[in-house]
Amino acid sequence: MSDTILIKDSTVVTANSKNEIIKDGSVLIENGEIVDVGKRVQGKAEFVIDGKNKIVFPGFINTHVHLAQGILRGLVPDNVALIEWLKDYVWPLQGSMSEDIMDISTKLTLLEMINSGTSSFIATSINARYNTDRTIENVYKSGMRAAIGKQVMDTPGYADKPQILHQGLVEDVETSFKIYEHMYRKWHSRDNRVWIWFSPRTPGAVSDELFRRIADTVREHRSGVTMHLAEVRDDIRYFASRGKSPGKFLKDLGMVGRNYVYVHGVWLNDDDMEIFAQSGTSVSHNPSSNSKLGSGVAPITRMMEKNVNVTIGTDGAPSNDDYDLVREMKLALLLQKVNSLNPQAISVFDMIKIATINGAWSMGIEQLTGSIEKGKRADIAIFNLRAPHLVPPVAPVSNLIYAGTGMDCTDLIVDGRFLKKSGKVLTVDENEVYEKSGKFAAELLSRANLKEWM
Ligand SMILES: [Zn+2]
Repeated sequence: MSDTILIKDSTVVTANSKNEIIKDGSVLIENGEIVDVGKRVQGKAEFVIDGKNKIVFPGFINTHVHLAQGILRGLVPDNVALIEWLKDYVWPLQGSMSEDIMDISTKLTLLEMINSGTSSFIATSINARYNTDRTIENVYKSGMRAAIGKQVMDTPGYADKPQILHQGLVEDVETSFKIYEHMYRKWHSRDNRVWIWFSPRTPGAVSDELFRRIADTVREHRSGVTMHLAEVRDDIRYFASRGKSPGKFLKDLGMVGRNYVYVHGVWLNDDDMEIFAQSGTSVSHNPSSNSKLGSGVAPITRMMEKNVNVTIGTDGAPSNDDYDLVREMKLALLLQKVNSLNPQAISVFDMIKIATINGAWSMGIEQLTGSIEKGKRADIAIFNLRAPHLVPPVAPVSNLIYAGTGMDCTDLIVDGRFLKKSGKVLTVDENEVYEKSGKFAAELLSRANLKEWM
């Protein structure tokens, strides 16, 4: 049951079309809906939050999450380049996972996201071996909103390498589609919180025929697609071998449009950006992962100039190493400034949109969430400003994004329900995660024939 909630006398960051920030503002929530927001909010509530010394944001939206990688934190050496990182570590680990290990990895990842103020996310690369029903059940019970991408592939190779993928992750097309159909029928649009998408492995690992089949199914099902794209410079070699840039390649296959979210896009060119802008295709920017793996700085300010819908994601624990969007936003801002030698390249207001309403738009749920506005569902994250790193309280929005972390989140409300309340996550069993994650991580290393590296 959702409570009637009043958040009183706070700084409210709305992320509405005027990017308004309301000082001494209040938000009233009834039956999971925002029924009023502003300076003079009338109404009684069962639960009142004193918003003084707090700041209120729309729940953040993480557009690139690997649920299977929460448990991989610290299992992969820090200083490895992408292909080796995948081939020698990440794939063997994920390809050796049991359903119980995936269960804890999912809970751990959800726990971390809720704890740091994230309300919605796009999950990538959901493989058949993970027990997809159990995985989605965990997401559903957590109270978050999520688009969940079923992995599809028709070759275990990549570009000119025929057998690169770990055997434990190889799936045939018909099995992938059968599982997708099952997931779709059982979960798609459930309570306006879960949607079932496709997550094709990567260009060079999916045939043109399969891409066309995915595009047709997405159109028919009003589903979506998320895929890694142009992450490292070497990825461009594959597109060159096809005589096309990434955007042109995807457009010719019908793989662009609303609810198509391409991840990284570090090496996209101006033509690609124009194709994405015209078709309503979104990009998920993952600056920590691109930095740690030495992949490059994605040209997101250029994308924004060209009207591409830019969103933000954390990627997984072995390349980030956290799922905290507040920390991610800071890095995204700094990288654009230093890369362009221009401190005006991007502002915190741009970044707030990227982490909220743009993410909602990419998931096709911008009518539902992504801003604090009357009539939208109540997806709200509240942060404490009474902390040494966040005072004086003169510019709290800038303070939170440049000096804060997700750990400053005290409360998270999704659909009018508290997922975190007064500092405590309510919908994921924290103790179970702490008790089992170490033991399962050790078991996973041994199943993958790997050792602790540090
Ligand atoms: Zn990824």
